[in-house]
Amino acid sequence: MARLIGSSCKLCRQERMKLFLKGKRCYNEKCALVRKDYRPGEHGKSRRLKISNYGLRLREKQKVKKIYGVLEKQFRKYFAEAKRAKGMTGENLLLLLEKRLDNIVFRLSFSLTRASARQLVRHGHFLVNGRKVNIPSYSCKVGDEISLRTKSREIVGIREAMKLSQDREKVPWLEIDQENLKGKVVRLPKKEEIALPIQEQLIVEYYSR
Ligand code: SF4
Repeated sequence: MARLIGSSCKLCRQERMKLFLKGKRCYNEKCALVRKDYRPGEHGKSRRLKISNYGLRLREKQKVKKIYGVLEKQFRKYFAEAKRAKGMTGENLLLLLEKRLDNIVFRLSFSLTRASARQLVRHGHFLVNGRKVNIPSYSCKVGDEISLRTKSREIVGIREAMKLSQDREKVPWLEIDQENLKGKVVRLPKKEEIALPIQEQLIVEYYSR
């Protein structure tokens, strides 16, 4: 399966914005964006900051792809599905991305990043409604219960992520049962609850050229 490779920090530096792709490090002074607040590459410091309208829309799309770890082909599929659905295309798109199993595992605090959540899902550590699901893009529905398999309960990385995520803001559309290592989708998120610096309308405009 294709995936984003290379330095996560470079992705943030390209967007000149924290995308929180590396877990613990993103919250302290070791963050590359704190140390090197300029674009990567030889001419990163001198590159002009002026950006065209097209560039602005392109960057917004790239940013969302990086946040959710989705490649272009799959992202286009999400966009087509969002367009077909009722309502605002941009909001539908974010909703489809939020419903991904790897995102929900991350939102439930079982991992510090979506990338590690994806790996955990792929390795079959999670059950959805009692059945093993190892497809990170699996689209969760309202009422789905996501739980950690019994044999995966002692994984140090998961325990550590749960401990470190205690201060993270609660996700109102998910019910978390930390004691029993499970969570439930109680409803779908509203746009304002997604809490990411995204102007989804720019993505709609990008694909509507
Ligand atoms: Fe981005 Fe995190 Fe790297 Fe900072 S540490 S640049 S937020 S991935």
